Amino acid sequence: MYAEAVLKFKKLNTQAQQREAVVQGRSLSPYRLRYTCNHSEPEYNRFMERYSRQIVFSGLGRIGQKKLLEATVAVVGVGALGSVSANLLCRAGVGHLRLIDRDYVEKNNLQRQILYNEEDAEKRYPKAVAACNHLSRVNSEIILEPVVAELSAANIEQIFEKVDLVLDGLDNWETRFLVNEACYRFGIPWIYCAALGAETMSMNLLPDENRPCLRCFMSPESGSAAGQSCAVAGVLNMATGMIAAVQTAEAVKILTGSTEIRNGLFVADLWNNRFKTIRIEKDIDCPVCVHRRYEFLNRFGGSRVTRLCGSNSIQVMPSKPAQLPLEMMAEQLAKNSDNRTKIEVYPFMLNFDNGRNHIQIFQDGRAIIENARDETEALSIYSEYVGL
Ligand SMILES: [Zn+2]
Repeated sequence: MYAEAVLKFKKLNTQAQQREAVVQGRSLSPYRLRYTCNHSEPEYNRFMERYSRQIVFSGLGRIGQKKLLEATVAVVGVGALGSVSANLLCRAGVGHLRLIDRDYVEKNNLQRQILYNEEDAEKRYPKAVAACNHLSRVNSEIILEPVVAELSAANIEQIFEKVDLVLDGLDNWETRFLVNEACYRFGIPWIYCAALGAETMSMNLLPDENRPCLRCFMSPESGSAAGQSCAVAGVLNMATGMIAAVQTAEAVKILTGSTEIRNGLFVADLWNNRFKTIRIEKDIDCPVCVHRRYEFLNRFGGSRVTRLCGSNSIQVMPSKPAQLPLEMMAEQLAKNSDNRTKIEVYPFMLNFDNGRNHIQIFQDGRAIIENARDETEALSIYSEYVGL
């Protein structure tokens, strides 16, 4: 039977495809590889040799491995949590990873965001692209798909298309509630995960009528009240690494149909040595999983200006959908600037630094502005240089 189920893969990541690839809501992958089932058994066995140490683990076996290879997982946010989860899933042989992140790599990320290096931070590489870049050298036999975008009500259905499981690597509550609603609406299991200081928590949220969703035990009010940022309270890399590994183990169990999937909210405090699983009841009046009212999913547009967690940057979204000709913009900006201004243009973003402001402009019209005093100043810098 396995002889027929053999995988064939074809590499499509040419330089030209890479240049065209990324950006705007949903991207084509520069790291896309495809497999079909018409190889001989020896070739199949050679392919599976990579995973031999986990195949012999009785909980997984060859059937489990095959399920992983056929699965598509979206990791939302490839920061401290997501970079660990994506790394583990890539090495474990999940066949298709869609990595979604709106942000770029900074030096203060390197303490805990294990996929990145100093060069990524110097070049301010978008995290989704840098993550896929590194992981494509770890496992070239899976599909890696970077999505450089702010996950929103407008693009979430498209980004979660054909996804079997969603992993939470987020740093903000608003997007978590949006993910919760989308996963219930589209029937996708997802795994909540969060870390602050040395404290962490994770919970499997399966779109099952009898199980609770995130909204059953957390409201937007309580979420934002508890939502201290890692820039203020700090975060240990051991805490993020541990809880992301816990989350990924549950992901592997869900994808392979294990009966050992954990129920309840797992909570750990690595500094004070506390580990427990809290039983969570379904809220019989829950707006999401009982009444099917999708407050965040129906909120098109969202907020235009957001201060990014753990940095001195402000993100500004365009007021209408856009597809910017970045090279042309770079030429225009260069004409109107003095020779101290630094402008770099990549296929997926434009870096502009005139000594006062550093701005990263993405193809979808989104911009990240560093060192703006407040949201109002960020908006006026945005309209000066991007104007959407
Ligand atoms: Zn609920």
